[in-house]
Amino acid sequence: IKITNLEKIYRTEEVETVALNKLSMQVAEGEFVAVMGPSGCGKSTLLNILGLLDDPDGGSFLFNGIEVSRFNERKRADLRKRNIGFVFQSFNLIDELTVFENVELPLIYLGVSTSERKSRVEAVLDKMQIMHRRNHYPQQLSGGQQQRVAVARAVVNKPKLILADEPTGNLDSSNGNEVMQLLTDLNEQGTTIVMVTHSEHDARYSHRIIRMLDGQTVLENLMV
Ligand code: ADP
Ligand code: ADP
Repeated sequence: IKITNLEKIYRTEEVETVALNKLSMQVAEGEFVAVMGPSGCGKSTLLNILGLLDDPDGGSFLFNGIEVSRFNERKRADLRKRNIGFVFQSFNLIDELTVFENVELPLIYLGVSTSERKSRVEAVLDKMQIMHRRNHYPQQLSGGQQQRVAVARAVVNKPKLILADEPTGNLDSSNGNEVMQLLTDLNEQGTTIVMVTHSEHDARYSHRIIRMLDGQTVLENLMV
């Protein structure tokens, strides 16, 4: 990821909010980076742009060497479903679908065959140690189990990049540590991770903390 002078301005009837103010940052392939900063500094906006869910108003965003900042929605969606996995604070599982079906969904969007879907979903549920719950619905699971399912869904399409927004925000510390360990394992297997967090404890699992203030990065310190 190479971002240079990224700008995002939200315009409502009377107010203009500069959410990203010529922000620059880089994340190397295989890195695990934490993004921290006070509420309103632009973290969610940055994550939405990194995840190709939203487009910037100015600046450059190179993803895998490709300039994606002026991609239209269709091209963004195509790149997103192949390369990016999302993990959210509130899990964002679909209540009407079983664990298996939730994790299968990204593969349906990619047009993967039924038999390959079955083997890939089972492999990832097994890895996340949630296989025994494959036919249960999200509401029947604990928060920690739901987040393991969400991580399974994020990784089933073997993305290059995982974006995590406060992934432990709704978990107790033991389940939170378990999820952080899962992210660490995925990173050690080569997946790049960018994680927004308010938790200094969780940030210690990363290699590097990018600190933000008022839509800009203020510090990119290396961890020892
Ligand atoms: P955090 O500091 O944990 O990111 P926020 O309360 O700032 O939490 O934001 C929560 C969500 O609400 C984010 O997804 C953000 O994009 C959205 N959000 C924040 N401010 C506004 C706003 N003024 N209008 C619309 N959505 C907003
Ligand atoms: P953070 O995630 O660090 O809390 P956000 O990216 O959510 O910050 O918000 C950055 C700024 O942009 C805030 O001032 C917020 O109120 C504003 N904002 C975020 N989303 C929207 C939106 N959809 N419409 C208008 N303003 C927004």
